[in-house]
Amino acid sequence: MTVDIIPIGGLGEVGKNMTALGFDGKYVIVDMGIRLDAIMAFEDADIGRMSREELININGIPDDSLLRNRRVQAIVLTHGHLDHIGAVGKLARAYDVPIYGTPFTLELVKHVIREERTFKVKNRLQTVMPRDTINVNGIELEFIPAAHSILQTVFVSARGDGGSVLCASDFKFDEEPLIGYKTDRARLKRLANEGVLAALIGAVRVDRPEPTPSEGHARGMLKKAMDEASSSGGGIVVTTFSSHITRIKSIVDLSFELGRTPVLVGRSLGNYCTAALKLGLVDFPSDLHIHGRPNAVRKLLREIDGSREDYVLICTGHQGEPTSVLTRIADGQFPFKVRRGDEVIFSASVIPNPINESNRRLLETKLLAQGARVQRDVHVSGHAGRSGTAEFIKLVRPEHIVPCHSTFDKLRLMAGLGRELGYPNEHLHLLRNGSCLRLD
Ligand SMILES: [Zn+2]
Repeated sequence: MTVDIIPIGGLGEVGKNMTALGFDGKYVIVDMGIRLDAIMAFEDADIGRMSREELININGIPDDSLLRNRRVQAIVLTHGHLDHIGAVGKLARAYDVPIYGTPFTLELVKHVIREERTFKVKNRLQTVMPRDTINVNGIELEFIPAAHSILQTVFVSARGDGGSVLCASDFKFDEEPLIGYKTDRARLKRLANEGVLAALIGAVRVDRPEPTPSEGHARGMLKKAMDEASSSGGGIVVTTFSSHITRIKSIVDLSFELGRTPVLVGRSLGNYCTAALKLGLVDFPSDLHIHGRPNAVRKLLREIDGSREDYVLICTGHQGEPTSVLTRIADGQFPFKVRRGDEVIFSASVIPNPINESNRRLLETKLLAQGARVQRDVHVSGHAGRSGTAEFIKLVRPEHIVPCHSTFDKLRLMAGLGRELGYPNEHLHLLRNGSCLRLD
């Protein structure tokens, strides 16, 4: 009875998360993500038209070659962020197995598959609900609720004869998630009693000692920022992650509280919000304006330009992306112009990589030059910090820990945390992409 853990992507880097879990030679693939910064480095890259090989060469998607001759039974997705599902269009079709995910995750996977231009992805999409357990050819897969910055995130627990492995790359403990569920502590506790052989735990924020504040706290920060902005009587522009439905809902609600009409502008905002509405995961007022099409956007922005004190403009551009609505506003490409008295609120932190950092600096420089006030980091993270990670480890008590989802410095930090919690070195595993940890 052997259990294999093979990280395919996501170790020593932030992005392209993908892991294979093997039980006596039968494998389950958890996540298939892209690495956004690698893809963004090629400015005109259209992922849909690039081949698997091209994308592997630029480090944009995981190199899954070593899985090609193994007996893969299922592809399982933890949540809908692109660094977890973005490579489904390129990699999944090589495996003649279903793709399992929660409704929101699979709704987003459909977009990824639709954008695939070089071939058809034919894998069956199989919806599972949080708290479901299914059996795939003798491997038991359980989907455990986890709070994160996207709805319907789950931990995946995979159990075979040799023991169980828990994948917990993206989560936080949040007492006030506003929409959706809290991380299921009670189930994790029971799982610990049943015995967890190994846990893959995300290390992306393990360098931060303070507890990650709740989404309710983010709403409070936004309220303060938007109240201040509104009192000056100018325009309010807010930008955040298009996939962060809870945050968008807070901005929409707070806009109404200020007596202003919220307007959502941008293609990706439209896609994510439409998916959430379709599944009944969020209740926006029926007359909420969500616009992605260029002509409608232009018309609306002209109207807002004339009476900016009546609106809150919610748009794409939190990382300074060159084709986003906010960047194009700053570049004078739309009839709405930012001017003195207006406030631009970034409800997002800069995802640290050189491209985002320079794009964002450039965008802020332009906005400030046009007279706007800029508020940064009106945001809380979706990832547990050091204290949340320690709580998770104490709750789950895995026999072995595999730090994942980060650069090597942070993977080492998590190993250090494990040592502090009493783990011997032989049970803390610093792996690399493509290596295999076999637990007998
Ligand atoms: Zn995530």
